[in-house]
Amino acid sequence: MTEVITSPNAGFCFGVRKAIDLAVEAAKNAEKDEQGRCGIYTCGMLIHNKRVEQDLAGMGIFKVDDLSEAPAGAKIIVRSHGEPKRFYDKAEELGLELMDATCPFVKRIHDLVHSAREEGKNVIIVGDPGHPEVIGISGWCEDEAVILSSVEEAKAYAESRVDAVSETVVVSQTTMRNEVFDEIVRTIDPDGKMDIKNTICNATAERQQGCAETAKKVDAMVVIGDRASSNTKKLYEIASKYCKNTFFVENLSDLSLKEFEKYNRIGVAAGASTPDYAIKEVTSSMSEKFTDEGLTMADFMGEIEKSLRLPKGGELVTGKVHQVTDKEIIVNLGCKKDGIIPLDEISLEEGQTLTELFKEGDEIQAKVLKTDDGDGTILLSKKKLEATEHWEEINRAYENKELIDVEVIRQVNGGVIALYKEVSGFIPLSQLSDRFVEDSSEFVGQTLTVKVSRVDPRRGKAVFSHKAYLNEERQKALEKVWANINVGDIVEGTVMRFTDYGAFVDIGGIDGLLHISEISWGKLKHPKEVLEIGQKINVKILSMNEEKGKISLGLKQTIPEPWTVIDENYSVGQVVEGKVVQIKEYGCFVELEPGLDGLVHISEIKNERVADINEELSVGEKVNAKILEIDKERKRISLSIKETLNMEPAAEEADAAEEEAADEE
Ligand code: SF4
Repeated sequence: MTEVITSPNAGFCFGVRKAIDLAVEAAKNAEKDEQGRCGIYTCGMLIHNKRVEQDLAGMGIFKVDDLSEAPAGAKIIVRSHGEPKRFYDKAEELGLELMDATCPFVKRIHDLVHSAREEGKNVIIVGDPGHPEVIGISGWCEDEAVILSSVEEAKAYAESRVDAVSETVVVSQTTMRNEVFDEIVRTIDPDGKMDIKNTICNATAERQQGCAETAKKVDAMVVIGDRASSNTKKLYEIASKYCKNTFFVENLSDLSLKEFEKYNRIGVAAGASTPDYAIKEVTSSMSEKFTDEGLTMADFMGEIEKSLRLPKGGELVTGKVHQVTDKEIIVNLGCKKDGIIPLDEISLEEGQTLTELFKEGDEIQAKVLKTDDGDGTILLSKKKLEATEHWEEINRAYENKELIDVEVIRQVNGGVIALYKEVSGFIPLSQLSDRFVEDSSEFVGQTLTVKVSRVDPRRGKAVFSHKAYLNEERQKALEKVWANINVGDIVEGTVMRFTDYGAFVDIGGIDGLLHISEISWGKLKHPKEVLEIGQKINVKILSMNEEKGKISLGLKQTIPEPWTVIDENYSVGQVVEGKVVQIKEYGCFVELEPGLDGLVHISEIKNERVADINEELSVGEKVNAKILEIDKERKRISLSIKETLNMEPAAEEADAAEEEAADEE
C-alpha cells in the first residue's frame, strides 16, 4: 500500500490565503457584466499560479498590469506582499477603490518604516531591492531607505556610512533567511546601537524545513506549484537534495501515476501559491487507498470536509498559533480561513505583551465572534471565551453555594455593578452590607466577597449579595464563639449599649447581658456610673443558652467579694478613707469600697455631742475613719471619725518635731 505524506506547511501561507479569500468573497458578492467581469481587478498576478489566475478570471476578477488600465470606479485588490504609498495615492487620483489584502505582517513593516521616517530616522531594509514587497516597504519611507541584500553590500555600506548609527531602524523582507539577516545586522551594527526589527515571517522557513524533513523519509517527492513561482522552485531544490526521485508538477495532469506505483512512500510539498485543491487532487490520486500520516481515505475526505467547514459565530474553537505580533495573534484553525485574535480581545495584565505570552505552535482556544471579519479571516476573541468560562464558574458558584470575589466598578440605580473577571453582575443596595447603606459610592473600586443569589442564563445576568456572605461569616463566627465558651469562663468583651437594667457586652459576635446587679459588689443606680460605651472589660459567663442565643455575664465576679478577703485588706485600729453614702438618725454609712460599708455611730462622729448628723456631714463627702470592730459573721464594720480627729494633733506634733530637727542640722 502506498503511503502519501504531505509535508507540514505545504501550500498557501496565512497572507496568501487571506488575499485569496478576500478575492473570492468579493467576487461572490459582486454583479457581473455580459463579459463576466465583476469590476474587480488585481494589479499584477494576485499570486504566482496560473490556475488560480484562471479561477479568478472565471469568477470575474481580471488582471491589469498598471492601475491606469483599470476602468474608473473599478475595485483593485492590493496583493499580500503590499504596495508603496504612491500606489494608494494613484488609485485615489484615478478614482479606483482599493481592497487591501496586504498581509498584516507586511503592513506592520509599512507602519514601522513610515513612523521611523516621520521621526526623522534612517531606514535600512534587508532584502531584495527588486522584490515587490521591498519596493512596497521602501515606498512607505519616501523611497529613502538603504536596501541591503547581501553581507558584501552591508560591508560596503558600513565602511562608507555617514548617518548617525543610533538614529537608524533596520527591518527585513519577510522572506529573508534569518542567518543572512543576522549576519548583515552584525556587519552594520557591531555595537548594537541601531533599532533592529526582525520582521522575517517564518512561514517560508517552516515550509522549507517541512519539505526537507519529508524528503528525507520518502522514496519519491512531488513538489506542486507554478513553474514561475520562485518559492516552489526553491522547494524543488531542497527536496532534490534529500530525495533523488523528486518531481516538479504544476497539476495532476503532469503526474505519471504509473511511475509512482513502484514507490511505497511518497512525499508531497507545495509552494506558497499552490491552492489546497491542487495539493489534494494530487495526493488523492496517488493511491486509491493511501494513508497520510496514518490517515485512511475516509479520514482524509473528512479532513477535507473539515477544512471547508467554517466555524459559526459563538463557537469555541481550538487552533495553533501561527504568528504573534504586538497587535494580534494569527491562529491556524485547520479550516480554509485563519483566525485572528486582536489585542483588545485578549486579557493582559499591565505591562504584559502578546509576544511574551504566546509563541508560534502554542495551542490556543478562543470564541468565534465573526466568521468573516470583512477581511476574509475569522475574528476570534479570547476574552469572550474567558467570559463564557467565567459565566460557567458563576453558575457553578450559584449551584454549589460557593463564594466568589467581585470588583465593584460603578454605581447604578438601586445598587452597583460588579465584575467577576469579565462577567458583570448586579448587587442591590440592600445586599451590599449587613448595615444600612445610603450611598453606594464608597463601595466602588472595592473587591467584595459575594454569594451568587440569582442567575439568568438566558440573558447572561447574575445578582450577587455581599450581605449574604457577611451574614454567613457572622453565623460561622457565632458558632465558633458558642463552641468555645463555657459557664465560668472569663472572656474579654466590649460594652455596646446601656439599658436601665444593665449593659450589653459583645463577646466576639454575641451580645451578652451584664445585669446591673452583676456589675459591682456595691449598689448602682445606672451602669454608666462605672462603665462607658466601647470600654473593654473582662466578664464572667454566668449562664448561657445557645438555643435562645442568651448569655448572662457578670463583671463583679471577676474580683473577689470584699468580705471574703476582709482579713487581707482591713484590721481593727486601721484608719481608712471612705465616702459617706447614707445618713441616718443614729449614724452614717461610709463606703470603704464597692460592697463594703461601715457604720459611724452618731456618737463616733465628733468629740462633742452631735444633734443632727446632716449639720456635720453630707452624702458623697470623703472622710477618714478608724476601724473599731469587724464582725465577719454579721458582715458589719464599726467606724469612728472622732478617733481620727484625736489622732491628728499627735501627727502634727510629730511633723513639727521632724521639721525642727531638720532645721538644727
Ligand atoms: S508575510 Fe508571511 S504570511 Fe504574509 S504573505 Fe508573506 S510569507 Fe505569507
